[in-house]
Formats: sequence, structure tokens, C-alpha cells
Amino acid sequence: MSTSSDTMNTALAPAVEETYDIVVIGAGPGGYVAAIRAAQLGAKVAIVEKQYIGGTCLNVGCIPSKALLHIADEYRKFDTMAELGIMAQKPGFDMASAVAHKNKVVKQLTSGVAQLLKANGVTIVNGRGVVDEPGVVTVDQPEGTRKALKTQKIILAQGSVTAKPPFPGIDGHNVIFSTEALDLQKVPESLICIGGGVIAVELACLFNALGSKVTIIEMLPSMIAYEEPEVVKQLEKIFKKRGIDIHLNTKVESIGDANGQKTVTATGPNGQVTFSGEYVLVAVGRSPNPEGIKGLIDRGLAMDRNRVVVNEKMETSLPGIYAIGDLSGKTQLAHVAMAEGEVAAENATGHEARMSYDAFPRPVYTFPEIASVGLTEAQAREQDPGVKVGTMPWVGNGKALASGETEGFIKVIVGSYGEILGASIIGPDATNLITEYTLAMRGELTTEEIINTIHPHPTLSEALHEAVLSADKRAIHVYQRK
Ligand code: FAD
Ligand code: NAD
Repeated sequence: MSTSSDTMNTALAPAVEETYDIVVIGAGPGGYVAAIRAAQLGAKVAIVEKQYIGGTCLNVGCIPSKALLHIADEYRKFDTMAELGIMAQKPGFDMASAVAHKNKVVKQLTSGVAQLLKANGVTIVNGRGVVDEPGVVTVDQPEGTRKALKTQKIILAQGSVTAKPPFPGIDGHNVIFSTEALDLQKVPESLICIGGGVIAVELACLFNALGSKVTIIEMLPSMIAYEEPEVVKQLEKIFKKRGIDIHLNTKVESIGDANGQKTVTATGPNGQVTFSGEYVLVAVGRSPNPEGIKGLIDRGLAMDRNRVVVNEKMETSLPGIYAIGDLSGKTQLAHVAMAEGEVAAENATGHEARMSYDAFPRPVYTFPEIASVGLTEAQAREQDPGVKVGTMPWVGNGKALASGETEGFIKVIVGSYGEILGASIIGPDATNLITEYTLAMRGELTTEEIINTIHPHPTLSEALHEAVLSADKRAIHVYQRK
């Protein structure tokens, strides 16, 4: 769980002491939002970061992956431009330039966050934070100084680290994880993705669009298994049409080399199978990172394996210590980490805030995008047998047709009182559109309020309105048999 290097080396020079109201450890989306919110509320705040402001999300996660996905999405559009009368030859693609652009985006955003922290009066302390006891965070800084940050409250936000399964061959050359995949200087000829979770489907989509031969190997019967099954089936169909090779119910056991290629050996429905390709991408999850808190764990900090246990106020079992984001791990999403950061900051500054997980959006940035909120149909039926289901295919929406983006549909699950219990979208701009249903769920609106809201025409948002109408068998732009 944590190592002996989690405690301080007492042989070093005496620490320079500083005093704060709140010290945040980790400057990812959870930590930097918590620090800014606490400073807004009048606290004297320091944030300790050992590697990079912005954490996983801004440096090696959400933002770099979306920058490259955007480029790949633009590039693949050359395949269908002739249909629109644009007679362009498909140009070449230079991965190194794309990665340089991605690095520029990351630099701009992370410098912006550093400036925001400073502008809000938050002190940034570079180095690895260690908490041996409540009330003090010790930081050994890269330049050799040691600081002891005395503080009333501590917000733990050390995030998560890539899970590295103990497969034979996992340390071999050309075996990469998401961080390395986002820094490749050339497009792989072929890529075998171990895992069919959200990282694998996004990166499979990215490299397929850039010309790699992609294989996905997933041990469960479905990719992104927590999503609405119909949506995942649709994604699977689209991926297969694009030539992505998908193997479900297939568990990877080892990685090797043969004939100058990487090999991946797995057990599937028909026994053992071996796949070969240039690169192997391992994307089998991320583990909470309880780094630097062995002292707290020894003092009884409640843990669930590597995860710090928190209540709805983001309080841990030790007074004055809060935990947020991937470290407390209710989900592993940047926007949830940010929301938890605000809740922790408010409680740590004497205000009252509680975290609710009833309506948080789950975005997947494939082409087309997927986004969902709340329950799937099967989950909703378990709690309310009277649910109604509304659907709207994109082919019935004028804006989607005009933009040539008609793959997919919306599915909305409505409870007995007309409340929205969940929704899933696969299609254009799904990750932006899901906000309307999220807001409706959060505000406990009924479908009547969505129906009575005039949506602009022609827009993709009209389809959200239409899907809700369809739950009441009163859709206008798709024919519904009574
Ligand atoms: P992190 O972002 O992991 O930040 C933790 C920080 O703490 C790091 O900077 C680390 O260096 C620092 N730290 C750790 N220990 C110490 C210590 N002892 N002292 C000082 N500093 C320390 N989520 C989404 O919502 N949308 C997406 O599109 C998305 N895409 C992703 C794509 C990829 C490839 C990956 C890997 C993840 C993606 N995620 C996405 C998940 C998202 O990145 C995480 O949920 C989010 O970063 C969690 O934020 P956090 O603040 O909890 O932790
Ligand atoms: P994941 O848990 O989503 O998926 C891992 C997959 O690997 C699972 O489906 C699992 O069944 C499979 N798997 C595990 N061992 C296997 C084996 N031996 N053989 C075959 N399959 C195996 O994890 P991830 O995709 O690595 O993503 C990590 C986290 O990052 C996610 O929880 C997600 O919240 C976050 N993330 C979010 C976004 C987004 O919001 N768009 C994007 C990327 C990452």
C-alpha cells in the first residue's frame, strides 16, 4: 500500500517552517480546485506538488488525449470529403508534429492553472509531501530544502497511478501505457490494446483513425461494461466497420516477442489465442495513490485497499484530514474530483457542503462520442418497474443530417413520476449534450419541463427534447406506433 520512503528522512537539514490554514497535497483537478476554493473562502492555503501542476488530467490524461483525438478526428474527415464535393487528396500525417501541438496545449493550460493558483493567493510548494501526523506536511524540495508546513487542515489529493498487472513480459520494449501512447513520435503500424475500458476505446479510436491496425482484447463480455448495453453494441458495430478487431471474454495472461513482433497470449471462449503486433498498450485500470501518508495509515486512517475512505463531506476517519479525487476513488473522473475538491474546501473552511453522486456525467471521447448520466435501463427497472424509455436516432435530427453525423441515438429513462433516472447518448457532441439531462436530474425536473423548454432549431439539442417526447409516445420527428 505504501512504502517506508513514505516517512521523512530525518538525517536531512532542519526544516524551514511555514504556517497555513489548509495544505493540499497534489495539484491535479481535485487538488487545484480545492486550493482555489479554500483561498476564495479566505483561508491561507499551500498546495504541494511533486511533479506537475494539473496532475494526470492536464499532463498525461484528459487534455493530451483530447488534443490528439481532436487531430485524429479532423484527419479522418478527409476520408469522406469527396461526398461533400471537396476533392482533396488525403494528406500525410506527422505524429511528431501532432504530439508537439499536444504538448503546447498542455503547457498553456498547466501554466494557466499555476497562474490561477498564484492569483488566488495560493502558495505552490514544489516537492513530495509527506504526512506523518495530522497538522504538519513535510516537503523535501528538489533544490535540497526541506519545509515543514504547519496546518490546521489537510486535503489529500494524490490521485491515481496506472495499474501494472504482473503479466510475464510487461516490462518488455514496445509495451506501453496511456502516458507513453500519448507521446509516440510515429503512428504504430499495429497496436494491441489489453483492456476494453475507456482508455482503450479512446486510444483505439485515435490510432485507428491515424492508420494503425488496432486490436482490443477485453476479458468481460463487453467493452466499457458499465455503459448502456445498446450503446456499447452500437460502438462495437462502428469500430468493427472501421476495421478494429475486438475480442471479448478474452483474458490476457502474458506478453512476449516472436518474429520481430510483440505477442499477447490470452484465453478466450475457444481456448488459448495469441495476437501479434508492433506495440502493446496496457490499459487495465488505475489504482488510487496513497503516497506520503503511511504515517496517517499507521495512525488509523480508514482505507479500503489503496483507497482513502471518506464520507459525503469528503472527511476521512481522522479529524482535519480530507481526501478527494482518484485517491478516494468513488469514480475516477476529473470533473468529479473537482466537485469533491469544492466540497472538501468548503467543509475545511467551516462551511457545510455534501457531495452527491446521483447525477454526474460519464463522457467517452470516441468518434462518435458517448455520454451517460444516472442509471441504465436495467438498473432503473430494478428500482422502478414503471419506467418509460424514450429514444431518438440521430438520423431524425436536421442538424445531425446536415453535418453528416447520423450514427447513434439518444436513450432516456423516465421514472413513474416523470423524473429522469438516466440517459445515454452515442452520437455527435454527446459529451456536451449530456449536461442538459444532468441538470434536469440534479434539479429534479420532470420531462414536462424539458418538453416545455423551447430548444433552438436546427440544433443537436432538439434531439434531447425529442427523446423525452418519445418516452410519452408523442415524438414529432420520428414516427411512433401507438
Ligand atoms: P491526479 O490528476 O492524478 O493528480 C494527483 C497529483 O498529485 C499529481 O500531480 C501527482 O504528481 C501529485 N502527487 C501524488 N503524490 C504526491 C505527494 N506525495 N506529494 C506531492 N504531490 C503528489 N477523466 C475525465 O473526467 N475525463 C477524461 O477525458 C479523462 N481522460 C483521461 C485520459 C487518460 C489517458 C487518463 C490516464 C485519465 C483520464 N481521466 C479522465 C481521468 C482523470 O485524469 C482523473 O480522474 C483525474 O486526473 C483525477 O484527478 P486527481 O486530482 O484526483 O488526481
Ligand atoms: P477501466 O477500469 O475503465 O478498464 C479496464 C478494462 O480492462 C476493464 O474493462 C477490464 O475488464 C479489462 N481488463 C483487466 N484485466 C484484463 C486482462 N487481463 N485481459 C483483458 N482485459 C482486462 O480502466 P482504464 O480504461 O485503464 O481507465 C482508468 C480510469 O481512467 C477509468 O476509470 C476512467 O474513469 C478514467 N478515464 C476516463 C476517461 C473519460 O472520462 N473519458 C478517459 C480515460 C480514462
